[in-house]
Amino acid sequence: MSKPFYITTTLPYVNAAPHIGFAFELVSADIIARHKRLAGYEVFFNTGTDEHGVKVFRKAKEEGKDPQTYVDEYAKKYRALLSALGISPSVHFIRTTDAAHKKAAQELWKRSFNAGDIYKKKYRIKYCVGCELEKTESELENGHCQVHPHLDIEIIEEENYFFRLSAYQERLLAFYEEHNDFVVPPFRLNEMRSLIRGKGLEDFSISRLKAKMPWGVPVPGDSEQVFYVWFDALVSYISALGWPDDEASFRKWWIETGGVVQFAGKDQIRQQAVMWQAMLMSASLPPSKQIVIHGFIQSGGEKMSKSLGNVIDPFALVKEYGTDAVRFYLARHVASFEDSDFTLEKFKEAYNADLANGIGNLVARILQMSNQYVSNPIKFPDTFYNSDNLSGEGKAVLTHLHKFELNNAVFVLWNWMQHLDILIQDGKPFEVAKTNKIAAEKQLIYLLQQLAEITVLLEPFMPETSRRIKTAIKANKKPENLFPRKE
Ligand SMILES: [Zn+2]
Repeated sequence: MSKPFYITTTLPYVNAAPHIGFAFELVSADIIARHKRLAGYEVFFNTGTDEHGVKVFRKAKEEGKDPQTYVDEYAKKYRALLSALGISPSVHFIRTTDAAHKKAAQELWKRSFNAGDIYKKKYRIKYCVGCELEKTESELENGHCQVHPHLDIEIIEEENYFFRLSAYQERLLAFYEEHNDFVVPPFRLNEMRSLIRGKGLEDFSISRLKAKMPWGVPVPGDSEQVFYVWFDALVSYISALGWPDDEASFRKWWIETGGVVQFAGKDQIRQQAVMWQAMLMSASLPPSKQIVIHGFIQSGGEKMSKSLGNVIDPFALVKEYGTDAVRFYLARHVASFEDSDFTLEKFKEAYNADLANGIGNLVARILQMSNQYVSNPIKFPDTFYNSDNLSGEGKAVLTHLHKFELNNAVFVLWNWMQHLDILIQDGKPFEVAKTNKIAAEKQLIYLLQQLAEITVLLEPFMPETSRRIKTAIKANKKPENLFPRKE
């Protein structure tokens, strides 16, 4: 029986059209999901949309829509992104306005309340609606949020429920100590650890007055309050599994797997590695397995923004270059963990160099010659993935994937292809064939076998391209131009 594996993206907040940063997170998680499936795991891959909170409530009002109509429209756009990016069709899509999710959030609240971790108090905080987070003085720059300098910091003054995060300081620190690969890469957690050791963790408010902001999950036992958006959204990673009703599913995907592998951006450490883990502890549930943190994507050295006109639209990119070209670029040229710069010029350059002149040209050359000089198609290594028969390069690709180093994995594949190019240049099978057909055939069979191994390993990154090359090798026939040059 195959082992279960659970992976999720964060749930993007539906106050704007899908951006390239989320496309990157989605494609990265999909590559790992596909890799695990090929390696023999049974995979639960989750994504979805985060639909409550002040920001959504206000945006809907601005557009003159009721919040449900507004979030329905956005959920559709995010679903459309899945097919545009060639995300595994079996992906699970959760919306935080789903009835089952709301029920799960309320159940977690009740457990946490019964554990003595929820209390009510009057307070006053500075709040960034952009982040939907409280901001301390030290987090502000000239009185503004560093991520949302264009938004005004707001003051919230009301009586709300609080979560006793401070009670989990020691347990969290001990947990990080025991699991030193809990956050990938580990340095992303260091700052948070020293913060916890130094200043310590403060309790945070987890509800809002319904009279002021009704767009949230109702708080159990208090009709005047609704959930603070993060306290509901984070529960989606277990409500997606049918928790608390579907015990068998939760046991399989959360207990047997050792928890979920979560992909998230670098601004999410506090929410994913601290708040969410404490919430799980409070409800007596096991922690997540791993949190993989990626950097931000900028454009031309600046943060993408409408006013600068440097926003990269993933839909437009797919329309112009195709799904696999976008997947390739995100995996190869956006750093797996650090910040990256993304411009349309760089994209086009990489497309022509790595795809049109790279893989496209190599496949055409090999298959054109093999069609002429190789008498029978080679036996395609369909069951090769993850097997002991993999070459050193093949094993290196899988090792990088195991460490979530998508860049490095693709780098190995492209170096390997360059090596095949050199073999063709040096060995000149087309010349050899003039005098020694058997020797030429032997050379070409070797090239085909190498290309076949590359094709098998390419599948998680570029599933459609991999399929097309595989068909070509099996037919021993040059395929249609895989990546036509763009002028
Ligand atoms: Zn902010």
